[in-house]
Amino acid sequence: MDARSDRVTAYIGLGSNLDGPREHVSRALKELDTLPLTHLAGYSSLYASAPVGPQDQPDFINAVACVSTRLSPLALLDQLQALEQRHRRVRQRHWGPRTLDLDLLLYADLQWQTSRLTLPHPAMHERAFVLVPLAELAPEVTLAGKTSATLAKHHNSAGLHRLLP
Ligand code: AMP
Repeated sequence: MDARSDRVTAYIGLGSNLDGPREHVSRALKELDTLPLTHLAGYSSLYASAPVGPQDQPDFINAVACVSTRLSPLALLDQLQALEQRHRRVRQRHWGPRTLDLDLLLYADLQWQTSRLTLPHPAMHERAFVLVPLAELAPEVTLAGKTSATLAKHHNSAGLHRLLP
């Protein structure tokens, strides 16, 4: 496994809208703490959001987690994809329902573009269901020179609701 000598802070977006989505997201948050060379440093509240794309599917449950890891970016992506598979991710169509979706949002301040991985995640600044939980968890973290708090404040977050624990 590809490891670094130092620890890096990374942010991960979680989403689910099938088969008990609250349970999938809550379980996945705990499982992030069990990944090799990685520990869970914090996580946001859970949020419910209207689906992007086809509307004939259940609302999504979303959250953002912060991990401290010694995995390289691609090794962390491998682990996230394996975790998705362990939740028997079902994905019949683009933007359709799924049991668990994990996106690597930020890996330190790395900017990277390969066929498998783009960092920061290319769609994160367009998505209230990422920006709002990220701003709750890490209001000072910056994306393209702006804090997550500023980006979240100026983003339309209609259709997004914070869930009570
Ligand atoms: P999706 O299921 O729509 O989240 O897309 C998953 C695909 O996006 C996988 O093939 C990944 O290799 C690719 N990908 C590119 N950048 C990222 C990223 N920052 N986080 C997660 N997946 C990514």
